[in-house]
Amino acid sequence: MEIKNPYDKTGQWLRGAFHNHTSNSDGWFPLETVYKMYAEYDFLGISDHDLITKHEGMRRIPTVFEAIEVSSKQTHMLLVNPPHSIMTDYSNEFTIANYQRLTDRTVDNGGFSVLVHPNRYFSNYWNVEDMLKLERYIGIEVYNGDGNPEYDIAFDKWDALLSAGRKVWGFGNDDSHVYGQEKRVWNMVLAADNSNEAITAAIKDGSFYVSTGFGFEAIRTEGSKIIADFRSNALLDGMYKYATLFGKDGRVLKEVTGRFKQIEYECAGDEEYVRISVYLEGGFGAFSQPLFIG
Ligand SMILES: [Zn+2]
Ligand SMILES: [Zn+2]
Repeated sequence: MEIKNPYDKTGQWLRGAFHNHTSNSDGWFPLETVYKMYAEYDFLGISDHDLITKHEGMRRIPTVFEAIEVSSKQTHMLLVNPPHSIMTDYSNEFTIANYQRLTDRTVDNGGFSVLVHPNRYFSNYWNVEDMLKLERYIGIEVYNGDGNPEYDIAFDKWDALLSAGRKVWGFGNDDSHVYGQEKRVWNMVLAADNSNEAITAAIKDGSFYVSTGFGFEAIRTEGSKIIADFRSNALLDGMYKYATLFGKDGRVLKEVTGRFKQIEYECAGDEEYVRISVYLEGGFGAFSQPLFIG
């Protein structure tokens, strides 16, 4: 049995998100205010609708990403580190061919493509059929911080893609537009250093997890065993926790509740993938990437 563990590396954990808006599109605040809202983040992407906002002016955030949210009426797609040449014949029309073209140009530029808020049912949603037609995107937004639980959580579509054999990573982003939407959900990236290149490389490897306030210190393997170490200190260790491990088709492989700081799971070999969700009492959560079982 082979377990592909994207966390099996050394590095530093960096906090950030890729999907946020400014007043260059429909955000309420100019870039300099958004920088202040996220001043303690290690990295930040700005992704206005259908245009690339240039990073400029004073900021404390060490690393920034250019991005664009391709925003047809039907579906939205986040392109991180897109080439500027993408704007010369830009169209947000939703066809698989056009979205594939934009994804290809971004991936060929060293960037990556993420299908965002796939469950926003009143508009801008993705159906699984279209998600399976499109290729080369790196992941989907499993947690969008807009504030509607019915629309902004997409673990079901993630399990559907993973179970169909697509190796896609789960992202968490605020998609912040207005005051109060900031710092609801983010990504913790295990990167070699805090640079655009190192974070991009770690994202491509799946060396990150989604957080709404809780976290992992490490996810390790020993033989056929997966071991998750959660963030630990005297206060956190005393809090009640709920951990669930999911496999193919969203099957629950194991559930653990209690005041633990570590859990273990012995793989049977037929899981195809194992992903871990954990919540603190109070609701703060952390969501790992899948470990693929071969
Ligand atoms: Zn959107
Ligand atoms: Zn957005």
